[in-house]
Amino acid sequence: MTTLKNKLEQRISDYDFWATRRRYGAEGHNNANLWVLACMDERLPVDEALGIHVDTPVGGGDAHCFRNAGGIVTDDAIRSAMLTCNFFGTKEIVIVQHTQCGMLSANANDLEKVLREKGIDTDNIALDPTLPELKLNNGSFAKWIGMMDDVDVTCMKTVEAFRNHPLIPKDVIVSGWIWEVETRRLRAPTLDPEKRLRTDVVSSAFGVTNKQPDRWS
Ligand SMILES: [Zn+2]
Repeated sequence: MTTLKNKLEQRISDYDFWATRRRYGAEGHNNANLWVLACMDERLPVDEALGIHVDTPVGGGDAHCFRNAGGIVTDDAIRSAMLTCNFFGTKEIVIVQHTQCGMLSANANDLEKVLREKGIDTDNIALDPTLPELKLNNGSFAKWIGMMDDVDVTCMKTVEAFRNHPLIPKDVIVSGWIWEVETRRLRAPTLDPEKRLRTDVVSSAFGVTNKQPDRWS
């Protein structure tokens, strides 16, 4: 029989481990050995979509979670995934993007134009002021923004980028998923028109007529 005393002792020991797990390196991994990459959009509830608890203390702590605009591959997403996969015991990467993403809602060239009209020279930007050697070639800024034509295509390309990246160990399992804001459910990325029906997955749904700068196609 497990007494309450036993349970409390276990809970305290679990908490101590959780609170100091970084001292154990790869042995102090999060509960699910998992790194999640998700769009920053507040309509994408990562815990609900994946059935995990990312950031509650004991009983949660299932994953390291990285969010950016789109949930796309970027140099910092690669940096974070490299650290968690090589040094903190992460064995799986789950990528979640979503329908109606803001990254579908405008053309990147138009966004760059707005910045230029504000007087910003987009060909001479310190992307990271602490790392001035990190540079874009002139003319690459719009591509860097990472706007999408089609969220399912982008999701599949993002999975591929992590699978093939030399900094991500080959035995890490990588999968990508789409959260449907309209139906509040998760599905695999697909190009099947029937499965995409009634959801906004392409930029033309937002009145964007020009193709984005070539990044995902
Ligand atoms: Zn989004």
